[in-house]
Amino acid sequence: MNIIRTTEELRRWRAAVRAAGRDVVFVPTMGFLHRGHQALMRAAVESGGELVVSIFVNPMQFGPGEDFERYPRDEVGDLGRIREVDPSAVVFVPSVTEMYPPGFSTRVIVSGVTAPLCGRSRPGHFEGVSSVVARLFGLVQPTRAYFGLKDYQQVATIRRMVADLALPVEIVGCPTVREVDGLALSSRNVYLGPEDREAALSLSRGLARGAEAYAAGERDPSVLEGVIGAVLQAQPGVRVDYVEVLDADHLGMASPDRPMVAAVAAFVGRARLIDNRVYTP
Ligand code: AMP
Repeated sequence: MNIIRTTEELRRWRAAVRAAGRDVVFVPTMGFLHRGHQALMRAAVESGGELVVSIFVNPMQFGPGEDFERYPRDEVGDLGRIREVDPSAVVFVPSVTEMYPPGFSTRVIVSGVTAPLCGRSRPGHFEGVSSVVARLFGLVQPTRAYFGLKDYQQVATIRRMVADLALPVEIVGCPTVREVDGLALSSRNVYLGPEDREAALSLSRGLARGAEAYAAGERDPSVLEGVIGAVLQAQPGVRVDYVEVLDADHLGMASPDRPMVAAVAAFVGRARLIDNRVYTP
């Protein structure tokens, strides 16, 4: 495995890969990797090309009072999990000053899809995400980049950015990997104690209850939100941040004849968890 820590070294590696005529496939992460990240890596490797995985806890996408300092980190474990999928992967592990050198002054702001959901709860979050991903795309210059649909709004934001800036990269969204009981895998699940872990199940359970109502013909977003919200509100130890049912494509108002995304965010113990499910006619 090839561990690269500087942008200069990454540039040299990228030039050599281009000279060899090989594609690059890319999985950006914040580390503390789990099977969800590994599924992205597997999809990338299976599509062909040299795999680059980045590990960077991006301070720009954390708000004041959020968990940047205590975000879980485990570089040795991460390298093992990458090696399991692809022993020849390149792992890009930049420092904050490599990513944001003195004089760095640019922000990428995507409007529209970033307005609801986490955009409302976490001001500046998506600006941090799109800015860092744009810089990573410039450095890695991938043919394809893989993102998890667990962070549904993030994928929508990156797709919008890539279309608007005409960036030469294909964005591939991959299904959410879950525990057998339905809990979406997340690096932040490490914050959950045993009781929190139980309470956290109410997110996927609420979304499933919403799916049942949808399958039974319910198409009113506010009724669906009520069905999902009731499950969360009935669960001790869960504080709801939002429950919203929106158009699955543009994240604007849902319409009955188009796919909808039901998205939830809730505080459980010390963790803020998100989950979503797409309801399709
Ligand atoms: P993170 O390290 O949390 O920033 O996530 C890095 C990438 O992994 C993002 O594209 C996430 O959407 C994706 N990801 C995180 N959790 C999961 C999961 N449970 N299933 C699929 N992809 C995931």
